[in-house]
Amino acid sequence: MADRKLFIGLDVGGTSVKMGLFDEAGELLGKGSVPTPPLIDSAGYTAVTDGITALLGAASEQAEQVRGIGLAIPCPVPADGVIRMQANIQINAPGLQAALERHCPNAAVRFENDANAAAMGELSAGTAKGFKSFVFVTIGTGVGGGVVVDGHVVSGGVGAGGEIGHLCMNPTEERSCGCGGKGHLEQYASATGIVTSYKAACEASDTEPVELEGPSDSRSVFEAAKNGDEAAWTAIDSMCDYLGRALSMISCVVDPEVFVLGGGTSNSSDLFLDRLCASYKRYAISVCSDTPIEIASLGNDAGIYGAAYVALQAAETE
Ligand SMILES: [Zn+2]
Repeated sequence: MADRKLFIGLDVGGTSVKMGLFDEAGELLGKGSVPTPPLIDSAGYTAVTDGITALLGAASEQAEQVRGIGLAIPCPVPADGVIRMQANIQINAPGLQAALERHCPNAAVRFENDANAAAMGELSAGTAKGFKSFVFVTIGTGVGGGVVVDGHVVSGGVGAGGEIGHLCMNPTEERSCGCGGKGHLEQYASATGIVTSYKAACEASDTEPVELEGPSDSRSVFEAAKNGDEAAWTAIDSMCDYLGRALSMISCVVDPEVFVLGGGTSNSSDLFLDRLCASYKRYAISVCSDTPIEIASLGNDAGIYGAAYVALQAAETE
C-alpha cells in the first residue's frame, strides 16, 4: 500500500508527545511517544520528527505518504490557527510547523487546542460518533471543553471557544481561579475543586479528611464517598450542582444532541453520573431536559485521534 494516504495525530502534553498514525479511514495503524522537549529550537523539533520517523518505520510507511499532521496543544488556538497566547509548555508553533513540513513535505499541518482535539477524537471514533452537535467536557486537574456544531469544533475569535471551565458560576466567591477570575466552574467541578470542597466540608463538620495524594486527588475523595464519608458526598453534590447548572446554560446556547464527559475524573462516573443528570434536569429548560450525558470512550487516546482527524479535515479542504 505504498500510495495510501496517512495522517498523524500528535498530542503535546507537559511530559510526553503522544503520537498516532492513521489511514484515510481513521484506522489507527500505530502509536508512539517521545518525552516533551522544549519545542523552541531545532533540537526540540528533531526529537519530534525522529519520533515520527520511528512511528512510520514501525508501520513500514514513508514520510511522503503523510498528507496531514494535527497537533493538540494546551493553549487556545483561534480559528485562523495563529497562536497568540503563551501555552503552559514551551512551544514555537511556526518553527515546529516548518520543521514538520520539511519532514513530511506532502502534509498539511494544523494546531488545535487539546480539549477541542479530544472532542474531535470522540466525534471521529468515540462516544460522539454519529452525532453532529455535541459538547465535550473534560474533568481533570481543571475543567476544559470542546463545542462541536455540525461536525466542526468552534474555536472562536481568540480561541476561547469551549473554555467552559471559566464560566462564572458564583460571583460571590472570594477564592481565585487559575485564570485569575473568581467563582469559575473549574473551582468546583474539577478534581482540584472536588478536593477543595471536600476539605472545606470536613472543616465545617469538624471531621478528619482521608489521606490525600496532593491537591487534585479526587480519586481518594470518591473512595471515601464509597465508604460513607459524608463530607465526600457534600463535595460530590457540590460538583454535580455546579456542573449540572453549567451544562443547562450551555444547552440554551448550543442545544447539543449529547454531552460527553472525559478526563480522569470521568473514571469515577459510577459515583456521580446519576446525581449530575438529576442536577442538569433540575436546571435545564424543559425541551432540553432529556439531553443525555455520556462518558467518553477513547480515554488518553482522544487527543491523537482528534488531532489526526483535524489534519484529515484540513487536507480535504486544501
Ligand atoms: Zn477561571
